[in-house]
Amino acid sequence: MAKKEVQPCPCGGAAYERCCGRFIDRGEIPGTAEQLMRSRYTAYALRCASYLTATWHTSTRPAEPVTGDDGIKWLGLEVKKHVPAGDEATVEFVARYKTGGRAHRLHEVSRFVREDGKWFYVDGSFPERQQ
Ligand SMILES: [Zn+2]
Repeated sequence: MAKKEVQPCPCGGAAYERCCGRFIDRGEIPGTAEQLMRSRYTAYALRCASYLTATWHTSTRPAEPVTGDDGIKWLGLEVKKHVPAGDEATVEFVARYKTGGRAHRLHEVSRFVREDGKWFYVDGSFPERQQ
């Protein structure tokens, strides 16, 4: 990835290096749950399992995050709502992806907690499936 400084960030933000890359590659700490959420989307897009593990709360973290060769191509992210409330936050988003030649959208409300100054992903709910 020699040219990554001029690549747009998969999350739709600025250049990767200045957007999610500083969290994923350089270990900077996201200041908000939305920044963490964006960087986790980018980690999925880049198949960066170690970053997903590191930012997943220990209470809900799977043994191995699913980022392997699953045939999913992530197409874009739209953050709908970010609701911070002290050391907890929710981020509602729509992520578009393609698998098996078909386009899909994932509409999720993710829950985050902050411990020792670091945000962690806890779990998510799916508003459209509950209706
Ligand atoms: Zn980004």
